[in-house]
Amino acid sequence: MRGTYLGTADVWGERVKVYATMRGDFRDTLNDPERIVETVEHEHVRYGDVPHVSITWTYGTERELKRGDGAGGAGIAPEVIDALGSDRARRIVELADRWHLNTMRAGCAHQAVVWEDSPYGRRPSLELTEPCPVTGYRYGHAWLVEIPPTDVRAELRSLFGWTAA
Ligand SMILES: [Zn+2]
Repeated sequence: MRGTYLGTADVWGERVKVYATMRGDFRDTLNDPERIVETVEHEHVRYGDVPHVSITWTYGTERELKRGDGAGGAGIAPEVIDALGSDRARRIVELADRWHLNTMRAGCAHQAVVWEDSPYGRRPSLELTEPCPVTGYRYGHAWLVEIPPTDVRAELRSLFGWTAA
């Protein structure tokens, strides 16, 4: 599935079509909705009540897309977004950077992440990041969930052309 068509970019000497997909109705059907999870604010909520933001990209030439071997995944090359020149696509990138995988946060709302160099590049430090000053939660010891506000959800719905529920 290609997703929502955002336009065609002239980039790398090719005409590249760009699509973005947001998983339907903010639902994650892969995990148990009755499970109780902790928010980044340390509240406990039912997983099924947490809006789940999952945004992925598909892009490539018409020929690549027909063969099913376009590029994509969770990210999109910045050159493609620049060449596309679409405010709608730029805004989706911003919201995806901020909210994609909002049910898999390693840190809470009160922690300042300390980064360290590793053989795999820069990464958050499990040892150097201070525990939460409120609860003592240690970075990376759970997947916390971050609940996107109503206006963010409304904007995402609008950007993906979903009709209002
Ligand atoms: Zn905290």
